[in-house]
Amino acid sequence: MMSADEMLQRAIAGERRWLARAITLIEHREPKIGRALVGASVRRRSTPGSPHIIGLTGPPGAGKSTFVDRIVATARADGKRVAVAAVDPSSPFTGGAILGDRIRMERHTADDGVYIRSLSSRGHLGGLSGATTEVCDLFDAAGFDLILVETVGVGQSELGVMEVADTVVVILTPESGDAVQAMKAGLLEIADVFVVNKADRDGADRLVRELSRTVKLGEDPWSAPVLSASAKENRGIDEVVSEAARHLAWCTSEGLASWTSRRGDARIRRFLDLVTSSSRRAAAAAMTDDLRGRIRSGETDPHKALEELK
Ligand code: GDP
Repeated sequence: MMSADEMLQRAIAGERRWLARAITLIEHREPKIGRALVGASVRRRSTPGSPHIIGLTGPPGAGKSTFVDRIVATARADGKRVAVAAVDPSSPFTGGAILGDRIRMERHTADDGVYIRSLSSRGHLGGLSGATTEVCDLFDAAGFDLILVETVGVGQSELGVMEVADTVVVILTPESGDAVQAMKAGLLEIADVFVVNKADRDGADRLVRELSRTVKLGEDPWSAPVLSASAKENRGIDEVVSEAARHLAWCTSEGLASWTSRRGDARIRRFLDLVTSSSRRAAAAAMTDDLRGRIRSGETDPHKALEELK
C-alpha cells in the first residue's frame, strides 16, 4: 500500500493515474492526503497568479463548459498547461460525472498539457469548497499554469467554491433572466468579469446594458467589465481571457488587499470545513453501540447524546 506522501509525489510529478487517485482521496475527505499536501510546494499560497485560478459560474445551460473548452484551447495555443475542476454540487457521484469527463477529455486526447476532472458533493454538505481548494493546491503543486474551476452558480455553497479563484467569471445569457435576478443570487459581489454568452441570440445587448449600469452602482474597488460573447461561434473568447489577465494584474497591484482578503475568507472556510469533517469522524468513532441504539430508538435525544459525547 502506497503512502499518501508517495502518492502525492507521483501525482505532482505528472503521473495521471496517481493524480486521479489523489483527487479521489480528496473527494472522500481523507485527512492523510490533505496533510500530505501541507508539505507540498504550493505556489499560490503567497502570490496571486502562479497559477492563475479562474472560476466560472452561472446558471445551468449558460454555456460554462463550452466556454471552458474554448479557454482551454486558447491557453494551449499559448503553451500553457491547463487543469479543469468541474464542480457539480447537485451530483451525488453516480458515475455520470466520470462519463462526462471522458467525453470532454476526448477533445484533448493525447494532450499531456490538459487535465479535466469532475468533483461531486458525495452528499457532504459544505465540504465541496474545501475539497476544491485542495484539488487546486494539487494542480498547483503539479505545475499547471492555469486552473479553471467551473460550477453551477445557484446557492451559497457554490459561491463558497468560487472563493478559491483569483478571478471569478460570471456567465449569463439573454434567457437567464434579468440583471436584478443575478444580483439577488449574489453574483454581483463575486463577479470580476461578467460575460453575456449566447450573444448570437436576441436580448444580449439589453442585458449587457443592464449589467453595466448595475456594476457602476456597486462600490467594489474593481469595476467588473461586462462583455458579450458566443462560445458556440467562438466569438469574444480572447476578450474574456484578456480581461481575466487584466484582473489578475490588478490583484498583484492596487487590488492586493482585496485579493488577500478573499484568500483569507477561503482559508477560514476551509478550516471550518475541516472542523466539520474531523468532528463528524470523531463522533462516529466515539459512538458506542449502546449510544447508537439509544439514539436510534429515541430513548436518547440527539442533543442529549451530544452532551454525553463531550
Ligand atoms: P453549462 O451547463 O453552463 O455548462 O452549458 P453548456 O456549455 O453545456 O451549454 C449549454 C447549451 O448551450 C449547449 O447546447 C451549447 O451548445 C449551447 N451554447 C453554448 N454556448 C452558446 C452560444 O454562445 N450560443 C448558443 N446559441 N448556444 C450556446
